[in-house]
Order: sequence, then structure tokens, then C-alpha cells
Amino acid sequence: MDKNRLRTLTEPFKIKMVEPLKVTTENYREKTLKEAGYNTFLLKSKDVFIDLLTDSGTGAMSDKQWSGIMMGDESYAGARSWEHLESVVKELTGMPYILPTHQGRAAERILYSILGGKDKVFISNTHFDTTRANIEYTGAMAIDIVCEEAKDNQIDLPFKGNIDLLKLEELIQQYGSVSIAAVIMTVTNNSSGGQPVSMANMKAVRKICDNHGVLMVIDGCRIAENSYFVHHREKEYSHLTYEEIAKEMLNLGDAFIMSAKKDGLVNMGGLLTVKDEALSVKCKNMLIISEGFTTYGGLSGRDMEALAIGLKEVFDKDYLHYRIRSTAYLGEHLRAKGIPVVWPIGGHAVYIDAKKLYANIPVNQYPGHALVCDLYLKGGIRCVEIGSVMFGKYDENGELIPAANELVRLAIPRRVYTQSHIDFVLDVFDDILELTEKAEGYKITYEPPFLRHFTAHFEPINL
Ligand SMILES: *Cc1c(COP(=O)(O)O)cnc(C)c1O
Repeated sequence: MDKNRLRTLTEPFKIKMVEPLKVTTENYREKTLKEAGYNTFLLKSKDVFIDLLTDSGTGAMSDKQWSGIMMGDESYAGARSWEHLESVVKELTGMPYILPTHQGRAAERILYSILGGKDKVFISNTHFDTTRANIEYTGAMAIDIVCEEAKDNQIDLPFKGNIDLLKLEELIQQYGSVSIAAVIMTVTNNSSGGQPVSMANMKAVRKICDNHGVLMVIDGCRIAENSYFVHHREKEYSHLTYEEIAKEMLNLGDAFIMSAKKDGLVNMGGLLTVKDEALSVKCKNMLIISEGFTTYGGLSGRDMEALAIGLKEVFDKDYLHYRIRSTAYLGEHLRAKGIPVVWPIGGHAVYIDAKKLYANIPVNQYPGHALVCDLYLKGGIRCVEIGSVMFGKYDENGELIPAANELVRLAIPRRVYTQSHIDFVLDVFDDILELTEKAEGYKITYEPPFLRHFTAHFEPINL
């Protein structure tokens, strides 16, 4: 048993500025949820008490980052803040060509519109939703091949974010290496429970890509969190610092995509880095057309300054320990209450198995979505479904082809909530446990063609 388990967590920072939270009633929340078309993405944040919708861009910056904001150089070309960011990212990735973007999906759109197109295939441990959307938008196909162990969401194994190496070989043989646009390693594996990827798995992917002349992309927006797991779970790397591990891992890739809104510890920003000069030229052309000049992309000077500082702070050992343990604290306590959580707990979020918790709701009535709504109604907690609302498709008769899992993600913003906020979330789950048998399913009343979970409207089935 982990000696840290279930112990009080002490945040390794103190609070210098506060943002008040509005306390609301269940009646009030019934009204606001209905007005939002029963889609928590469409709620106003002022009506949310604890916002666990995402860990993306929701973190708190440090005093050093805020002073960096004041020092930002807003020159159009060759800004000091760009030089600072570029040098930090070059050192971290070992890649020579660094492109700043306004967020991760802008980097994805640039890279995948160049690599993608009809007849192209991307293979990943698991494509994140914006990754898949950007790939499919080019006409290409995105195939997920997470390791078999990941499909058992209870088995206690250290690296359930890994890719299935045998399937990777098979798929490359099947489609032919010229059709494979890239292998994308998502680190940590966001859509598969936030589980880490081992260094051994990354090295094996590198070797397979080398053997077949296939490009390897690292979608590494949680590279620091992944490094924590590698350090603690992969013996060969326990003597390296978190930053050294990240450097070694990122160096394996041909390209790196980062949503800086995660481990960049900033509220907005993204990065695309590549090793190959010819590819970098194509990317830079796209960057200039759609994001901005090469020395700022989609970012202002102050944003680049804060990101350069955040990319160093995120590897602080006390911060990372607190970060990973505070996520585990929520997950371990939920599990102790009998809530079915994806196990082991990942880096940035706790995932609840709604198919198990709301076993009476069939998948075509979206049990994950029902849990998301109930958490809001009972406690003003906002979170997101990662199941058939997000990844479901329709067959030719319009019947739902469900996603493999019906998960609900409680994502933890970085350095934002204290342990007592998390203890409140745990209390709300006591209410949820009381109503699981009465919980009702939902139907979709409006949906757009791509990324429908962001803007779809719903209605309770028994309304
Ligand atoms: C957040 C995320 C993205 C997209 O980044 P945005 O900054 O939200 O555009 C891509 N991949 C993964 C794994 C992510 O978690």
C-alpha cells in the first residue's frame, strides 16, 4: 500500500489572491441546467461551484508568472519573450524548430492538415477528441490501439496509457508505411483514463517507426505529469529528475504538439515543434496564414513569457508530487465509498465508470451524461462525459454505435482548489450514491456534425 494513501495533502503554496465562488441552491441549478439545454458546456461559470470540467487553461499562475506577464515584450518580430520561450522549449524537446500557437488544436490543425488527407492513416495509443476531429476533417482515418490491459479499467498496472506494439506493427503492415501519416503518442493518455505511457513503450514505438520510416508525433501536453509516473514506476528512470525524463522522452519524437493550457501552467497557449527542416517550413507557412508571424504565432509577448516560466515550474518536485497526489486523493476516497473509478488513478483527472454506477440507464440514453447532470444538480459540480456523447457514432439506420466506455471525468485544475473543496466533492457523491437507482437517461435534441458534445442540447427521457 502506498504510504501516502488517504493522508492529508498539504498544498505547497499559499494563497495571495482570491476569487469568490457563488453558493447556489438545487432549485436554482435545475433552472440553469435546463436553460443550458442540459449541456454543462453551455452553463455560465458563475453558476458553477466547483468546476472540474477540464484542467485545460484553468490553472492558477504563480507570482513569478504574473511578474513575467508585466515583463512581456510585445514586439511583432524577434521579441525577447519569444527568445525566452524558444530557448526553454528547445532545451526541453531537443527539437530545433519551435512554433508558438494559440492553443493545442491550432498546432494539430497545422501539422495534421499537412500530414493528413484522404487515404492517410494515423495510429495512436488514443487520439484526443480535437486530434481525431482535425485528422478526420482532412479525410484521413484515426485508429486507436491502446494496450489490452487498458481495457480492464480495474486492473492495477503502472502504464495503462501504452500503445499496443503488436497491433502497431500489424497496422503498418496492413496499410503500408507510405499510407501511415504518423504514429501519435498521447502522453499522458487523456481519453484513456489519463494513464501514463512508459519510456520503454515510447522507445519501442521509436524503433518501429524507424524500421518502417514512419513519423512519430508526441502529443505531450501532460509530459511533466507523465514524467512523475515514469520516475516512480519505471526503475531504470528513478535516478533521473522529472525534467530529465521529459527531455529523454520528447527527444524520441519527430514532432511534438503541446496544449500549453495543461503542463504549460498558463491559461492560453500551444506549441508545435519539429525536427525536420522541410516539414518546419510547411508548418511555418500555415502558421503565418492562420495564427501569426513565426515569433509569436497566436500568442502575445506576455503569454510567451508566462509560458516560458511555467514550463520550468511544472517540473518542480514538490509541485508535481502535490499535483499527482491531490488527483489520487479524490480517486482513492471515491473508490473507498464504492464509486467505480478507473484504476489506477491517472495524472490530471479521476474517471468514473458511469456504465457501472448508473447500470439501469442503457448506453443509448447516455449514463455518463446523466451523471454529469446529477453532479451539477446536487452540488454545482461541473464535469464532462467521455463516452457515447463524445465519441458515439451512428450506423446507417441512425442507431447509436456506442463508445467503448461511458466515463465521466473529474478534471482537476492546477493549483486552484484546496483539499476542503475536494472533500466537498466527496460529500456530494454520497448524495449520488443514494439516487443511482432512480437516475434517468437523456436524449439528444440537437447536435452539430463535429465535436458534438460542446454544443449539443439534451432532454431527460422522462420529462
Ligand atoms: C487539450 C488537448 C489537446 C487540444 O489542446 P487545446 O489547447 O484544447 O486546443 C490535444 N491533445 C490532448 C491530449 C489534450 O489533452
